Amino acid sequence: MAITSKTQRKVVYLKFPPERSGRPIMCNLTRLFDLTFNILSAHILPRGEGRMTLELTGTSDNYKKGIEYLKDQGIKTENVAQKISRDEETCIDCGLCTSLCASQALSVNPESRKVEFDSEKCTACGMCTRVCPVNAMNVELENGD
Ligand code: SF4
Ligand code: SF4
Repeated sequence: MAITSKTQRKVVYLKFPPERSGRPIMCNLTRLFDLTFNILSAHILPRGEGRMTLELTGTSDNYKKGIEYLKDQGIKTENVAQKISRDEETCIDCGLCTSLCASQALSVNPESRKVEFDSEKCTACGMCTRVCPVNAMNVELENGD
């Protein structure tokens, strides 16, 4: 798929019921909806339920269709950007988190020297929550704590 100005990138968190694990659902996102996917993390819970953080790239239209397809397959989807937050009043702009944030969702503004957070870039890796001295970052995902 060619990357154009109409393509967008989103990170979603998926919850698979046990009977869906092992099916070619991710490949179908590419085959049926021309979406490029990148699995950022995946694990299986003891009862066989799957958890996955997935980066999807494609047109807005195809993204919506792909998400509908996942829901039709019984997979619960959550937009990762809505699950990550920073307590602006608690953050002391120490910058510790920025060196660990591989997706550059956290970065230092060179002019203000304040640390800025772009939730759309966040991949819910949870690294910032481990180093933040004042617990300003909150990741509400089972694989992000
Ligand atoms: S969880 Fe934190 S460190 Fe990981 S991508 Fe998001 S903001 Fe960056
Ligand atoms: S580590 Fe915590 S306090 Fe420091 S800049 Fe990041 S979010 Fe703010």
